[in-house]
Amino acid sequence: MAKETEKDRLKKEFKRLFKNMDFVCDSYLNKEGVPEKEQERFADIYQQLGQVWEFLALQCKHWDGYKKTREKKEVCRICGTVKGAEESQILLPAKGLKRIGSTAKPNSKKTFPAKKESQIIKDAIRFHGALLDVDVHNAYKSNLFKEHEINIAAERNVTLKERGVEYTIGKHRIDLDVEKPKKKGSKPPYGNFAFELRKKDLRHFPVIFKFDDDLTFLGLTIFR
Ligand SMILES: [Zn+2]
Repeated sequence: MAKETEKDRLKKEFKRLFKNMDFVCDSYLNKEGVPEKEQERFADIYQQLGQVWEFLALQCKHWDGYKKTREKKEVCRICGTVKGAEESQILLPAKGLKRIGSTAKPNSKKTFPAKKESQIIKDAIRFHGALLDVDVHNAYKSNLFKEHEINIAAERNVTLKERGVEYTIGKHRIDLDVEKPKKKGSKPPYGNFAFELRKKDLRHFPVIFKFDDDLTFLGLTIFR
């Protein structure tokens, strides 16, 4: 129901806007005998109305679908946006859940010659101080290790950075880096399963494993 009123409101706004744009066009821009100074002024007003159009179009969900224009373009019946046109701005509500994009996943079985061609999404947002990064790509060949080329598997990695902690969620692993080595060329950290470690070494790691009666792993808590 709320959607319906939002649509009605926008429809009204667009009607008003298009009427005003037509008025400026008919009365000043396309009319003979209007002084040049005045025409310039109204051309400027027309430009600003165009910006209002863009702003309103960002709020349109194109509820009524598209119609074909004389130029064989498909445009929204309400706001006049061309179907599939890339938007250069994103409008987000100040209150409530903000939504940008949808859940992109790898979409090809091919191995691409370089990461650039395999990339589907590489985007980031700094949200109230926290950095969120989404990196989705198909498989590609990497020559990061000069001598041998290696295949990097298709993946969707989501990384959250906050208070020096980097938390990356992929399909097959979750990585949590509390202290990333800062210097280049510094030794990579050791890695072992907990059961491979000696009890006295384990005491150094402030980690609590969460599990249920069947010993199903449910997560962990790290103190710092
Ligand atoms: Zn629309």
